[in-house]
Amino acid sequence: MDQVDVAVVGAGLAGAATAYAAARAGAQVVLVERGARSGSKGLSGGLLYTHALGRMFPRFWEEEPSPVERAISRNVVTLLTRTQATSLDYYDAAFAAPPFNSFSVLRARLDPWLAAKAESAGATVVYGSRVDGLARENGRVVGIRLGSEVLGARVTVVAEGFNATSTRGAGLAPELAPETVGIGVKQVIGLPPGEVERRFQLRGNEGFQMAATGLPAGVEGGGFLYTNRDTLSVGMILNLGSVLARGVAMYEVLEEFKQHPLIARYLEGGTLLEYSGCVVNEGGREALPALSGDGYLVAGSAGQMFVNAGLTLRGMDFALESGRLAGEVAAEASRDHDGSAKYLARYGERLAASFVLRDLQTYRRAPKVFRNRRLYGLYPEMLSSLLHRAYFIDGSERPHLNGVLRSVRAGKVSTLTLARDLLQAMRTL
Ligand SMILES: Cc1cc2nc3c(=O)[nH]c(=O)nc-3n(C[C@H](O)[C@H](O)[C@H](O)COP(=O)(O)OP(=O)(O)OC[C@H]3O[C@@H](n4cnc5c(N)ncnc54)[C@H](O)[C@@H]3O)c2cc1C
Repeated sequence: MDQVDVAVVGAGLAGAATAYAAARAGAQVVLVERGARSGSKGLSGGLLYTHALGRMFPRFWEEEPSPVERAISRNVVTLLTRTQATSLDYYDAAFAAPPFNSFSVLRARLDPWLAAKAESAGATVVYGSRVDGLARENGRVVGIRLGSEVLGARVTVVAEGFNATSTRGAGLAPELAPETVGIGVKQVIGLPPGEVERRFQLRGNEGFQMAATGLPAGVEGGGFLYTNRDTLSVGMILNLGSVLARGVAMYEVLEEFKQHPLIARYLEGGTLLEYSGCVVNEGGREALPALSGDGYLVAGSAGQMFVNAGLTLRGMDFALESGRLAGEVAAEASRDHDGSAKYLARYGERLAASFVLRDLQTYRRAPKVFRNRRLYGLYPEMLSSLLHRAYFIDGSERPHLNGVLRSVRAGKVSTLTLARDLLQAMRTL
């Protein structure tokens, strides 16, 4: 059996960050990716909060070819009904200047760029090879299985994304319940040069992103629209339990979102370049499996590190940071010839001291708050009715806003429930 210091499953962001950090620290690393290249299987809406990437590559946005698309300076959140939209539109010039807050990204560009960094640091990347499972001896993970072969490793880092078949297959992670799973679809739509700037009123490399909810009414989840250089990323993440309960089809839901009169104008005449689907963890902090054990570490969304906090959707910065920390710990374990569970527990300690577990803890109540159906039907409708009545003038008697508010919520939601929902949202987010 061949033997290396560190074997990494999956060359997404977590796996490539792991391989980069471990190789830089002097470990002999093999990174195995089932796709023909990095990013060929990776799906993400594509808004990256850049701090974690900046920690590894301080001026990454200056590199050629660029791993990122547009610096997001306009953040919009929108509540939709079939024909209406109520938006909060936040522009921040500081977000369009270094060190930048967030960039839109295309995984087909970002992932190969990061995998190339890992290779330059000394890691060996093997493409087109599927890891069939973890090799175990006396309960300890001793490497990875590739068909009938075993690649032995002092430390194995599982970074294979949300499905986490290796750890689940080895009984090291629990099965998932539909209520804790989000199902995502995404399309990349091409537009002619200059159209992205014109349609979204952007200057230079500034970008726009929108998070929207309310369509289809009552289904938990929402849509997103991000601007890339000459393309748009548009998609949805919905709660699987809610989708199953309502019997809606994801492609129909996405079409409904795309055909909304506000959204359709942005996509008009665009060419469909990519269509993909994937699942994500909606269970939050509570759904995290064990992130280390005898001979192994788990990084990125294989460790269910994902937060939907309404205004922000984050998994990529968690993947990069957890990957970097896993790589450092794996290299230390190889140097000290100790891949025991006790030694590798330092990974959990570092995650706890980092923003990863801190932010997952901060937003631990988010999954519960976002299971509130009123957010996806009643409240967008109430707000739209309120504003419709405020703006619509037809010569009839005009009630004051408090009177309008009373009439739009009459019989639908009590003051107490409304106040409780508002308070809970403020506390959670
Ligand atoms: C629709 C959608 C929108 C999203 N939007 C955002 C967003 O805007 N911002 C954000 O921060 N996050 C977003 N996320 C979450 C984000 O995509 C993930 O958190 C992130 O991709 C996790 O990275 P990762 O490296 O852990 O896993 P992945 O990106 O899933 O990478 C795993 C890699 O492992 C490979 N692999 C899998 N199994 C094997 C195997 N057996 N053998 C070899 N290789 C294997 C895969 O091919 C893949 O390359 C979104 C997710 C979805 C589904």
